[in-house]
Amino acid sequence: MHNRRPATPASPLARARRIVVKVGSALLVDAATGRLNRAWLETLAGDLLRLRERGQEVILVSSGAIALGRRQLGLSRGALRLEESQAAAAVGQIRLAHAYKEVFDAHGVTVAQVLLTLEDSERRRRYLNARATLSGLLALGALPVINENDTVATSEIRYGDNDRLAARVAQMTSADCVVLLSDVDGLYTADPNRDPAAKLIERVPRVTPQIEAAAGTARSDFGTGGMATKVAAAKIAVSAGAHLCIAAGAHRHPVRRVEDGAPCTWFAPQGNPRAARKQWIAGTLRPRGALVVDEGALRALRAGKSLLPAGVIGTRGHYDRGDTVSVLAADGSEFARGIAAYADGDLTRIMGRKTAEIAALLGYRGRDEMIHRDDLVIVAEEAAPAATPEPAHD
Ligand code: GLU
Repeated sequence: MHNRRPATPASPLARARRIVVKVGSALLVDAATGRLNRAWLETLAGDLLRLRERGQEVILVSSGAIALGRRQLGLSRGALRLEESQAAAAVGQIRLAHAYKEVFDAHGVTVAQVLLTLEDSERRRRYLNARATLSGLLALGALPVINENDTVATSEIRYGDNDRLAARVAQMTSADCVVLLSDVDGLYTADPNRDPAAKLIERVPRVTPQIEAAAGTARSDFGTGGMATKVAAAKIAVSAGAHLCIAAGAHRHPVRRVEDGAPCTWFAPQGNPRAARKQWIAGTLRPRGALVVDEGALRALRAGKSLLPAGVIGTRGHYDRGDTVSVLAADGSEFARGIAAYADGDLTRIMGRKTAEIAALLGYRGRDEMIHRDDLVIVAEEAAPAATPEPAHD
């Protein structure tokens, strides 16, 4: 047993705005009986509710579908073939979602099931679509509970482990903190099952080859993600600007325990989520099209505002919603880049018009902005000299 250290207000968990918590199968499903660990789940729910009550947004990534379904189907022994895990997932996911619904209903919180496939994070249009769905759910106060859509995922096109899925979700939603709860309490200098001298690494400022080597072989035998997938997840999360923690989850109130300073491994973020996203936008090699904007819009963008359809005076090229476009001044010079909220065809109908008119002009209610300020980065030299880095926090 470990000694608790006093809570520090500096805990990334206490400061985070949006938190992704990943729960492994070994925690949720009792290895001996194959049944859901209900009492433990209640304490996890209590922790997540506490975060929400403090005004933090929470997304849960939950494994357990296959582990629950295989018991129901009598597939209890040995490794499963692909079609068996697909079948087990179909049976188990419904039970998993039901358990979450029951537990959170009791507290008046609405849970939303979101099943993702690898393509939802790798293909940009699907990525943006999933991102929009998740932010919509959060804005409506629901608690997204995510799993991989194992029933349709084949071996070539699946994450296979929810560690990396959780990191991708964090990246997708610009979350600033990820907690991977599993049956190990963190990353050790060597496999603690084999080497009694192995020590827990509490802080990882940067994922070095030594860190990746330390992750080599330690693994849990129930979930599919070993330590290597957790470190791979950490690499994704930290490069998206999120803190990531690997912690033991089998205790009651596993999230609060981490916040209270229980031993675990924290990976430090590189940059912040917003900067990482903006880098990605600015780094687009070939914007799909361009918008020409008026002086007023340029002033608004310089002041950190969004680009509204009202400020657009022209459009070039063909692009879809979700594509990166250039924002040009009237003289044709590139001022900014951003992600278009409307395709060029729709923009021609709403440019120069007020935001309140959009729904009537298009027949559907899209976003208020043509490019939201979070999706926009100024690239013009005069406004943002290349030597000025993004501030660490905004
Ligand atoms: N998606 C799998 C399930 O729900 C779990 C993957 C993992 O263990 O990371 O059963």
